[in-house]
Amino acid sequence: MNILQIENLSKVYGKGETAVKALDNVSFTVKQGEFVVIIGPSGSGKSTLLHMLGGVDRPSSGRVLVNDTDMYSLNETQLAIFRRRQIGLIYQFYNLIPILSVEENITLPMLLDKQKVDPKQLNDITTKLGLSERLGHLPNQLSGGQQQRVSIGRALISNPALMLADEPTGNLDSKNSEEIMELLKMFNKTYKQTLIVITHDERIAMQADRVISIEDGKISKDEVLRP
Ligand code: ADP
Ligand code: ADP
Repeated sequence: MNILQIENLSKVYGKGETAVKALDNVSFTVKQGEFVVIIGPSGSGKSTLLHMLGGVDRPSSGRVLVNDTDMYSLNETQLAIFRRRQIGLIYQFYNLIPILSVEENITLPMLLDKQKVDPKQLNDITTKLGLSERLGHLPNQLSGGQQQRVSIGRALISNPALMLADEPTGNLDSKNSEEIMELLKMFNKTYKQTLIVITHDERIAMQADRVISIEDGKISKDEVLRP
């Protein structure tokens, strides 16, 4: 089953002489449970692509279907709700709310959505992430690796169809990077959580089921490493 369908996606920033075509007619599909890395040099269009997949910014043309819903046919309010329920976003710099505790940061998407948090699920996620003893701490009382684990928890709490991670280890040392990749892979392999990671790091790409390379806003290679 395809969880994600990208059709002829293009994004142009600006107008006229200064216009930049950041994505040029990109198409691909991702199956339920796949772990896909999107790799490319700086400026190749990776972040732009992730924003389009994440419902963060509208494409200039083309469609993004998540679980058969054409995301950009939704209005802003519908899109915000859809995104919170279906897409878990993980950023390089965590994007945690500094005045909220670990538990509050993790459950925030549910609160924003007026949905009940299942205490068993919260306990399950925080245990797997090794955060059980940290629920009352503030982000600045945690290490970088722990903060990234909180952001993984926040991304998982709504049982999203898709997890999108933008350079999730970009701000971490090698030990913490490995730990974060092991956690992401565990949720992918054991719990069939579909995962897309954006990186410029070959060592992370080698761990994926499939590697999509992008150059100048186009897919230059789409390689299956683990069928
Ligand atoms: P990457 O994530 O691979 O470094 P980006 O998606 O950030 O690439 O950028 C792709 C191209 O689009 C680059 O040429 C970049 O300068 C341009 N770009 C990205 N965001 C904007 C923006 N908001 N306004 C104008 N140009 C942008
Ligand atoms: P609002 O729609 O009220 O502006 P947002 O949806 O932008 O709220 O979310 C507020 C905060 O929660 C942001 O820091 C955002 O990064 C985070 N957030 C919301 N939904 C998710 C999600 N599914 N995965 C990860 N972070 C999320």
